[in-house]
Amino acid sequence: MKVAFGVDVGGTTIKIGLFNTKKELLLTRVIKTNKKDKGAAILGEIASEVKEIILSENIREKDVLGVGFGVPGPVVNNFVVWCPNIGWRDLKLEEEFIKELGFKVKVKVTNDATAAAYGEYAYLEEEKNLAFMTLGTGVGGGIVIDGNIVEGVHGAAGEFGHLQVEYEKPDKCSCGLYGCLETVASIRGIGWVTKRILKETNLPTELKENNLNPREIFNLAKKGDRVALLVVDKVGDYIAKASAKIAATIDPDVIVIGGGIANAGNILIKAIKKAYKNYAYFGNRKVNFRLAKLKNDSGMYGALELILSGK
Ligand SMILES: [Zn+2]
Repeated sequence: MKVAFGVDVGGTTIKIGLFNTKKELLLTRVIKTNKKDKGAAILGEIASEVKEIILSENIREKDVLGVGFGVPGPVVNNFVVWCPNIGWRDLKLEEEFIKELGFKVKVKVTNDATAAAYGEYAYLEEEKNLAFMTLGTGVGGGIVIDGNIVEGVHGAAGEFGHLQVEYEKPDKCSCGLYGCLETVASIRGIGWVTKRILKETNLPTELKENNLNPREIFNLAKKGDRVALLVVDKVGDYIAKASAKIAATIDPDVIVIGGGIANAGNILIKAIKKAYKNYAYFGNRKVNFRLAKLKNDSGMYGALELILSGK
């Protein structure tokens, strides 16, 4: 049986998935991200897990088609530029991983959100062009054009979290800029938007200033809480603004919304679509929006796709 691995390297945990060639996930191992010494031990620890899985599952080395990686930072042509929350810098991941693994195998790496975009693409039938936005602790993104991922010259293509969308009352972003999408559509950002709306309105609401997590906000919105609905509209408006910029640049078939915030479901997609009309150039109005199909495992599936697609 031929197999391949998809590895999603996160700042807290690393998910290692074993897949068959039908893209069925056979098993997952999760290990803690060892950030000691600028992440020097991480590749060795992943290699040990991979070797252990190969042994315990009776897999022959020659039946391993490859190991794909998604990592939290810019990547160009299999070269990891920088992963600030792990410590990796200028890492020739392929070379180093094969050294740790002890046998030669195909190794591919790209940015985690780009990998997730590629995972979404692989599960689409007709759409060859997509922008993927992941909304969570931060806001990341990825681009697939004509079935190919776009990393950019510096590995920073598709960094949609840092498109500016708030000009009048911009909050400072983790990147140092002001008014980025991440400041209004990440978990923390949505809290910030809600606080601002609470200050500006006298409408009755069940929202409490000390409990502003997106899940609570979206749940209340679904129950008809008017202030929570204002928040959803505002967040949808910001995402729509960013989407119009993306659409004017790459004119994709679809913009896919993923990450924890996407658990809000269709109420968010509806809000984005409603606002998008106000910002989109007429030539980009047909761009569609949908929720990500792959939930938490999208990074692993995308990393796998780097191996199976042969690209
Ligand atoms: Zn930013």
